[in-house]
Amino acid sequence: MSSYKPVDSPDKTTIFSYHDLTPPTTRDIYKARQTVEQYLPRTPLVRSESLSAELDANVLIKREDTLPTRSFKIRGFYNLVAELAPEFREKGLITASMGNHGQGMATAAREFDVPATIVVPATLENQTKISSMKRLGATVIKHGEDFDDAREHAEQRAAEEGYRYVHGGNEPHLIAGRASAGLEVMEDCPEVDVVINPVGGGSSASAYALTVGKLLGGDVIGVQATGADAVYRAWSEGTIEFQEQADTFAEGINIRTPFALPLQIMQDHLTEMMVVEDDDIRAAIRKLLTEDAVLAEGAAAVSVAAAVQLGDELAGKTVVLPITGSNLAAGKLRDILGDS
Ligand SMILES: *Cc1c(COP(=O)(O)O)cnc(C)c1O
Repeated sequence: MSSYKPVDSPDKTTIFSYHDLTPPTTRDIYKARQTVEQYLPRTPLVRSESLSAELDANVLIKREDTLPTRSFKIRGFYNLVAELAPEFREKGLITASMGNHGQGMATAAREFDVPATIVVPATLENQTKISSMKRLGATVIKHGEDFDDAREHAEQRAAEEGYRYVHGGNEPHLIAGRASAGLEVMEDCPEVDVVINPVGGGSSASAYALTVGKLLGGDVIGVQATGADAVYRAWSEGTIEFQEQADTFAEGINIRTPFALPLQIMQDHLTEMMVVEDDDIRAAIRKLLTEDAVLAEGAAAVSVAAAVQLGDELAGKTVVLPITGSNLAAGKLRDILGDS
């Protein structure tokens, strides 16, 4: 009954026949956008006066935190669930998540009346993300020490029980749907010079690379945390090795495995990759909150930390910084504001 067929994958995460490693075409991206815009509002692109002054640049922040579930991840799921093969409608979807990907999946699955099962690591501290997934009607399973343990468990359950396993990155439909953000930037600000975007699995950065990068000829820079730099290394060294450990407080990008499809797209269309320290991510969260009254979670604030690190290199440019999510646990926010 199950159509799950694990096959070899270049990134050593198992894939099944639905995990096509073909990058979405421009046509796929525009088509996905038609689905996404039926369900989601366009997000605001607003100038940050404080960052513009600090960097002597025109700095615009893209408020992905204003989407339902407060992160960009949801963009991909309306496209993926709308195209779901009928054999999976009853059993539904399974994925592994640090919270935002799962919330996005749960929201779209509820819209289309498809069950959603989400495996999170047992160590995930962000209770708000967990209760949000449950409130959206998803079944939440806690398993393993980190994201990659949870991912392997989700893959195994999918093989055994016949779910549609949704990979965190090797999903052309997710990338195409998430690329709607890049199309919005192209329309709202065709003069954009550079987008600086966080990288976990790389779905979002590869989506900007296929739009603002490939279509518009802008620079797209990907950013990881120094403690979780598997994709940075893979991209820089042209390899695809997973790391034994990943350790950043920014749980949304705390992964140790590069994924083949987004990595391939980033290798073709990303200008640069860089890393930032956790302390600089914390400082970026404080800066956004105090200067712009914008709450960013760690994974989102890396783009601001990277812009500050690039400093003079950005002078005179039009820079877009996507605020990819705002689901910062209250305890972390307290610590960050406390040690200022
Ligand atoms: C998942 C996530 C990222 C990283 O996105 P990828 O597509 O996995 O690279 C960045 N910011 C937030 C808030 C996230 O939830």
